[in-house]
Amino acid sequence: MNHLKAHNCPACQSKIEGDPVVMPEMDPSYENNIRKKMWMGLSEKKTFFPYYRCSCGMLTTRIFINEKKLKHLYSDMKDNVYKDDNASNDIKTKKSYLLQIEKFLNNHKKKLNVLEVGADNGNFLKLIKEFNNNINFTIVEPNKSMHRKLKLLTKNVYKDIKQIPRTKKFDLIIAIHVFDHIPNLIDFLKKIGKKLKKGGYIYGVVHDEKSIMAKILGKRWPAYSLQHPHVFNTNSINYLFESLNYDKNFIKKTINFFNIGFLLKNLFSVIFKIKINFPSFFPIGLKLGNFSFLYKKQN
Ligand SMILES: [Zn+2]
Repeated sequence: MNHLKAHNCPACQSKIEGDPVVMPEMDPSYENNIRKKMWMGLSEKKTFFPYYRCSCGMLTTRIFINEKKLKHLYSDMKDNVYKDDNASNDIKTKKSYLLQIEKFLNNHKKKLNVLEVGADNGNFLKLIKEFNNNINFTIVEPNKSMHRKLKLLTKNVYKDIKQIPRTKKFDLIIAIHVFDHIPNLIDFLKKIGKKLKKGGYIYGVVHDEKSIMAKILGKRWPAYSLQHPHVFNTNSINYLFESLNYDKNFIKKTINFFNIGFLLKNLFSVIFKIKINFPSFFPIGLKLGNFSFLYKKQN
């Protein structure tokens, strides 16, 4: 298929061999086209490219959508994280991220340069700004429809990393739910690594394929999706960053806030395949199968 491309392991670059360890209900490798509905995970059958276990420990696809097609699929996409849930839960979730890096943000006497890639609705940077206003923010967000909102936070909003002024370097780069979407991950990490000062940090959040949630739901786990060419666990992310000369500061489970009704609706649809609209009830915080990490670039 001309919209697909085979690739090696995104962490160690080895050829992916053996049998897949997570199989979809429908394998899109045999489809003539990846349609928007399929891409958004709205097909009746759970559709994703089969995942393989590389000998380095990484869980990855072997075939994925090529860049041209990806650009098309990502264009005019709305907030893709928890689209049915409400804004206050998004803020609560991001507040718990802030708690994890507060110490780091406070430890600096001079003005920090912070870059967020894939800033989405900008809620996380807004929280950081409220916490410490002595920060110079830069944002990279490929989705142009978010730019008007993001420009309220800083004038430095770009569509691509390449557009950031060459001499500008950062103390901290933030990437929430970004790395599991990027097919040529090593190139991407090298590119953002060049924008990081020596001794600078990368903070990120990704899905955890070794989480209890992933084990319970099996192939119905939401992070097994057409949008994820690979899914991490704490060991594979560590392997990746160590191979790029970063030192681990921490890896922690993160808490996501959901309305009980939203959770029940999704559990029922995933497990029993029926759609029920529950009232939203109240929000709860759960360690649902994501983890965050902070890595320091070696001097
Ligand atoms: Zn590998």
